[in-house]
Amino acid sequence: MDGARVAEKRKRAQTGRGRRRTCEEDGGAGQTVSDIEDFSPEEARKVRAALLRWYDGNQRTLPWRTAARGGGGGGGGNDGSRAYAVWVSEVMLQQTQVSTVVAYYNRWMEKWPTVGHLAAASQEDVNDLWAGLGYYRRARFLLEGAKSIVEAGEFPRSAADLRKVRGIGDYTAGAIASIAFDEVVPVVDGNVIRVISRMKAISSNPKESATMKSIWRLAGQLVDPSRPGDFNQALMELGATLCSRSSPSCSSCPVSGQCLALSLSKKLESAEVTDYPKKALKPKQRQDFAAVCVLEIVQESDLGALKTRNYKKLRVNDYKKSLLLIKRPEEGLLAGLWEFPTVLLAAGADQAARREAVDRYLTESLGVNLGDDYDAIFRQDVGDCVHVFSHIRLHMHVELLTISIKGGLGALEEKGQDLTTWKVVNDDSIRSMGLTSGVRKVYTMVKNFKQKTLPSLAVGGTNTKSNRRR
Ligand code: SF4
Repeated sequence: MDGARVAEKRKRAQTGRGRRRTCEEDGGAGQTVSDIEDFSPEEARKVRAALLRWYDGNQRTLPWRTAARGGGGGGGGNDGSRAYAVWVSEVMLQQTQVSTVVAYYNRWMEKWPTVGHLAAASQEDVNDLWAGLGYYRRARFLLEGAKSIVEAGEFPRSAADLRKVRGIGDYTAGAIASIAFDEVVPVVDGNVIRVISRMKAISSNPKESATMKSIWRLAGQLVDPSRPGDFNQALMELGATLCSRSSPSCSSCPVSGQCLALSLSKKLESAEVTDYPKKALKPKQRQDFAAVCVLEIVQESDLGALKTRNYKKLRVNDYKKSLLLIKRPEEGLLAGLWEFPTVLLAAGADQAARREAVDRYLTESLGVNLGDDYDAIFRQDVGDCVHVFSHIRLHMHVELLTISIKGGLGALEEKGQDLTTWKVVNDDSIRSMGLTSGVRKVYTMVKNFKQKTLPSLAVGGTNTKSNRRR
């Protein structure tokens, strides 16, 4: 069904015409898990032939496909290099659009052309290159997986062995084994779920394990025994292009003759191919609240001018300063990544509570106390912003705190706190670092704030006085 037709049907449903009926009313429009029929051998043969023919003529040119055909360096021979290329691309493609992934993939392969190069990289370098792709666990697993593959001496060649590598699940194992090693195994990603749910008009929730099991079984029945890798890519490509979520192009689809959802939509006024797969209710997002402190450390040489408010000689953006970053814990959300000092708080915490929590956090993280070890020069609320993760909305109250450390940065290092959990960076290096998009958002917010506001702020004004009281 073409996009226009789908849209027209949806409009009719919204205006009351063509009310959507239940499966029972439709006399069974859609199959539940218990009655999903297998593909017959004849059906499977037709699907393979049609899909591969379409793929041969329509596949997109993508860098990892070129590598999968035999280019690139090697992590254990030519097949190893194919496997590495498929692995990196498939991991990047999880949750991310192809158009975004291409540039990341090219940069990655330039830096770490083989699994051996990757295994020798640091987590920090990997995170830097990954910055902006999100879901940083994927980058972590790639590095850990590379180390274990290099230690084992060769790239695992079967889906069963690939699944033993940390971070490689059923989907990635199937993709690598079929594309790089020609193993006849299926892959099931979001695109494959959509295509198979439509081809079989599956009305049960794909998030349920029984439904997923059925989809894996059906995908396994379809895989072409002589070109398993191409077939799997063709099925995913169909889902990514023609059989899209909201506007499928059924009139150009190579498997329209085998698509039950399409035939139901032709027979039943109320049915649409986009009824499949069944939309699962999204879990409610958690609301988190945090105080984020962008902490600037001013160097001793600039202190005099700042304290005498001699802005004519010292524009606020010119003075030499460093920004403090703290490493997040090695487990959990954004594990091991750098951020400005951030403290989770209860909703509605006021400015005093936020500042108190930040000061306590700095004492715990760096072993320094306001007044004893450092003085506050500015302290100003910058504003609020929200960063959305898949399951969390993080509301950040951002403040700028400019301090001078008694005895300079050296004194901070001598405090004896773990030097691997914090670092100070300057503006130039922060711009080139791979920071998460949430941290970058805060950094930009503070930069804009300073450009607009700071030249008019009085050093030693109300905010500083309030700090001195503590
Ligand atoms: S599989 Fe083909 S015919 Fe069926 S819904 Fe998708 S695009 Fe349309």
